[in-house]
Amino acid sequence: MHKDVKEILYSHEQIIEKCEELGKQITKDYQGKELVLVGLLKGSVPFLAALSPYIDLDVTFDYMDVSSYEGVHSRTITIKKDLDHDVKGKDILLVEDILDTGKTLTTVKAMLNERGANSVEIVAMLDKKEGRTYPIEAKYYGFEIPNAFVVGFGLDFDEKYRNLPYVGILKEEVYQ
Ligand code: 5GP
Repeated sequence: MHKDVKEILYSHEQIIEKCEELGKQITKDYQGKELVLVGLLKGSVPFLAALSPYIDLDVTFDYMDVSSYEGVHSRTITIKKDLDHDVKGKDILLVEDILDTGKTLTTVKAMLNERGANSVEIVAMLDKKEGRTYPIEAKYYGFEIPNAFVVGFGLDFDEKYRNLPYVGILKEEVYQ
């Protein structure tokens, strides 16, 4: 285990097993649809790579990079990299590492609906339900986690720890 990690919440094996389960469900639900997997950079990349082989459909990939800035009164979302393809008429599955307040995905979902997507749903590896301040839910999620700061399997602190093969709680002294 990495010296900065306090506790492993989900091992690599548990995450892969969950990806298989989610992939099978997504395959069933999207039969006959034109599914586009939209990865939110950068945190979703390991999850997207682990999940997509278990989706037995002709899917396409696209990526979006949005950043959220904490202001005094609100958070604003800026698009750093937009999608390469038109989403009109497509069924979109937003792939995210973690759903927390829901601000990021509420904004992205509204944007893609406005562009004429046929449907926009979410698959999140982790769901921090206690952190939610926006009325949004993931159609699919891997694991519900408590309100702690986690890293690994794509999740970073200061751009580090994304390569850890597991999801773990970061020691408080690292970020305090
Ligand atoms: P939301 O808009 O739902 O509040 O934010 C989701 C984003 O916040 C995630 O994509 C992630 O970048 C960040 N985030 C929320 N909770 C955590 C956490 O526990 N660990 C890490 N590394 N990032 C988090």
